[in-house]
Amino acid sequence: MQKFLEEIVATIGASDDRGQVASYIPQLACVDPNQFAITVATVDGQLYVAGDSDKLFSIQSISKVFTLTLALGKLGDAIWSRVGREPSGDPFNSIVQLEHESGKPRNPFINAGALAIVDAILMGHQPKETLAEILQFVRYLAEDDTIAIDDKVARSELETGDRNASLAHFMASFGRLKNPVDYVLGTYFHHCSIAMSCRQLARAGLFLAGDGKNPVTGVRVVSPRRARRINSLMLMCGHYDGSGEFAYRVGLPGKSGVGGGILAIAPGRASIAVWSPGLDKIGNSKLGSAALEKLVEHTGWSIFG
Ligand code: GLN
Repeated sequence: MQKFLEEIVATIGASDDRGQVASYIPQLACVDPNQFAITVATVDGQLYVAGDSDKLFSIQSISKVFTLTLALGKLGDAIWSRVGREPSGDPFNSIVQLEHESGKPRNPFINAGALAIVDAILMGHQPKETLAEILQFVRYLAEDDTIAIDDKVARSELETGDRNASLAHFMASFGRLKNPVDYVLGTYFHHCSIAMSCRQLARAGLFLAGDGKNPVTGVRVVSPRRARRINSLMLMCGHYDGSGEFAYRVGLPGKSGVGGGILAIAPGRASIAVWSPGLDKIGNSKLGSAALEKLVEHTGWSIFG
């Protein structure tokens, strides 16, 4: 595996055709696109790292996996009255479906859905308290207390967040938000701005590869049923309107972020984190997807056999 990952770094990771870094968040626009990392954490406790696997990057929408898990822990299935479980087939920041579906977002991974999730977690608390809880949860999953929010990125998102503000206000107009819109937005921008390395991210995702239990520490995070369900949502919705393509090419539950990271889960086998900042047109890491496709070809880890 180690040799194979190094090969991926030397081939795919060195490709000229790297996609474009996200430009709508100014702080992400200045990230060097020539970086690449891949980490595989297996359920039997092996950790294989290659490339810039200790370099911190903005996990962006990958954080939505952790906020969904937290929300399910707090509200259980009641969360599904606030957000759906269907692929959207639309871009991550799209507003069009919201009007037809009376402000109820299609799924927890598009921006509108993640705003609904944050609103659920806030439960009348201050954004700072809720953020501390989200951060603590991520640190606990990754077993790493150094994980933090990149305030520069959060500020950059806040300053240019008109689209997300529109989504939140639109949902509020349907009576869908229980907390003030600026609380919801502030919490959302900050959890998207958590900075992690591929090594930290792969470890944080291990519970989803281990039936809800971190197979290395033995700590149960969610029930096997809940882990299966989170994985199925990642497969169907984790790459927005590119989810079908990702399932076709890679065949693993995955969640991408516009920072160029992807967390992919091979149930029963491994948690994989890749990072390459350049994105395809949909906003998913271009080389990250290619690397995962190669990895699955090599390992036979596709959930479809
Ligand atoms: N924070 C980003 C946004 O709201 C997250 C989008 C993403 O990673 N796809 O636009």
